Amino acid sequence: NTPSETLGFQAEVKQLLHLMIHSLYSNKEIFLRELVSNASDACDKLRFEAIDKPELMQGDAELRVRVEYDAQARTITISDNGIGLSRDEAVANLGTIARSGTKEFFSRLTGDKQKDAHLIGQFGVGFYSSFIVADKVTVRSRRAGLDAAEGVQWESDGQGEFTVAQVEKADRGTSVTLHLREGDDEFLSGWKLREVLRRYSDHISLPVQMRKEEWDSEKSEQVKTDEWETVNQASALWTRAKSEITDEQYQEFYKHIAHDFSDPLAWTHNRVEGRSEYTQLLYVPKQAPMDLWDRDGRRGVKLYVKRVFIMDDAEQLLPNYLRFVRGVIDSADLPLNVSREILQESRDVKAIREGSAKRVLSLLEDLAENQAEQYAEFWEQFGQVVKEGTGEDPANRERIAKLLRFASTHTESPAQSVSLADYVGRMKEGQDSIYYITAESYSAAANSPQLEIFRKKGLEVLLMSDRVDEWMLSFLHEFEGKKLVSVAKGGLDLDELADEEEKKQQSEQAESMKPLVERLQKALGERVKEVRVTARLVDSPACVVVDADELSPHLRRMLQAAGQ
Ligand code: ADP
Ligand code: MG
Repeated sequence: NTPSETLGFQAEVKQLLHLMIHSLYSNKEIFLRELVSNASDACDKLRFEAIDKPELMQGDAELRVRVEYDAQARTITISDNGIGLSRDEAVANLGTIARSGTKEFFSRLTGDKQKDAHLIGQFGVGFYSSFIVADKVTVRSRRAGLDAAEGVQWESDGQGEFTVAQVEKADRGTSVTLHLREGDDEFLSGWKLREVLRRYSDHISLPVQMRKEEWDSEKSEQVKTDEWETVNQASALWTRAKSEITDEQYQEFYKHIAHDFSDPLAWTHNRVEGRSEYTQLLYVPKQAPMDLWDRDGRRGVKLYVKRVFIMDDAEQLLPNYLRFVRGVIDSADLPLNVSREILQESRDVKAIREGSAKRVLSLLEDLAENQAEQYAEFWEQFGQVVKEGTGEDPANRERIAKLLRFASTHTESPAQSVSLADYVGRMKEGQDSIYYITAESYSAAANSPQLEIFRKKGLEVLLMSDRVDEWMLSFLHEFEGKKLVSVAKGGLDLDELADEEEKKQQSEQAESMKPLVERLQKALGERVKEVRVTARLVDSPACVVVDADELSPHLRRMLQAAGQ
């Protein structure tokens, strides 16, 4: 054994540890879920690496997770025979946070315990949750393929430093030993641990084992035997029949794969048969992840092939505008040695992507129809991303159009709650267009002089101010046969909606204004294309419009800002 080395945690880890211990204490049993989840991931990774290198299994191919406790020593140990960690991996993975969205997470912390606890949950607590109940954590690990002498021991009290040392470890894999804090003795019970494991880890596809206990009548207490027994169902959740899965199990499975702390908003679970065969279990999260807008943020779902884990974040299995969806797709057709490059080209993958997009759209349609409140929540978090679908997924454009929600002069609220169908349902007799305005903010849109005539005539206008809106509008030209028309475009034909009296008045006005128009035209000269009398203003004296076939003022400003 070499002497141990002391290293410091990355500053963010220190901060996270401090926060976690203080804000998640009321939820402390989640440490067990996180550690079993990691053990299960480690076994998945080994199984995957062993496809090419079967020797990694070293004659021990029955992957499992074991949970033990020692009431005297006041420790709990979670061990696995998965991929293990080398010394460098232990230092990198257990001393830093290397995740997209980290900066965003720390910038959003408020100091308010409850709000922060929520944020931490969303960010993912992971391994560091050990320190909620432990004042010392010892990890012993050996990477698959390395010699027994090349084990690593990592130890920390979670205060700011950790030590690593090379140790002898007879078997492959990782064991995490928690030295419990004063007062957390409730976990030193086979009954309590089983209860927590069943609640949080029943969906884990590997056996989670504990030592069998028996009643010792001499000692008059439960004593542990040498025999191991499996305490969870130990079958991949998505392969079970829907009727045999409880909501709670679906929810826990989501937390495991999404590294999220909150329950999902909705899910869809299907076995698809026919030309291509796969099972999908897809979830819509409640909240947008911190990295939703990062170019290198996590996207996609976990890919399994015939129940063997292949990769995380297989972004090819869903269109980009559904990048917030988490879940598992288990294909019966793809080869086990499938790579990201192959995924890009595979016809099977194309079929899966199309099928999955349809399923998610159905799920969202169902929410929109039957659970308006939840759909509103969804839209607030992910609406801007869904709008991208109008351009990205032409085959489903109509379905996506129905899912869109907007702010509108009808509600006079910045909340995006009006669907195109709602709008069409409220259209006036003789109105054949859907009117909208785009601007840099909701209030700029809502207060635009362009709207005066529409308000006066009682015509609804959709108020658009998301960055993606202009882009969306370049793909979305109509809805149910009704054209989408910008109120900022010239020559807007509202005549259909004017009554006889108004029409007469308008042409008289135009006549009497002629001299003024000519003077204005002269004064403005080259700076405008044309000056004309309009009926579209009510209180404001003038407004600038663009021709029907030109870029809208807002888009022009955006392009100019982008240097184009
Ligand atoms: P996450 O699971 O979201 O990646 P964690 O904080 O739970 O984050 O774990 C951090 C990293 O530590 C993991 O990604 C993995 O590389 C490593 N790790 C944790 N537990 C184990 C384990 N039992 N076996 C192998 N590696 C592990
Ligand atoms: Mg984890």
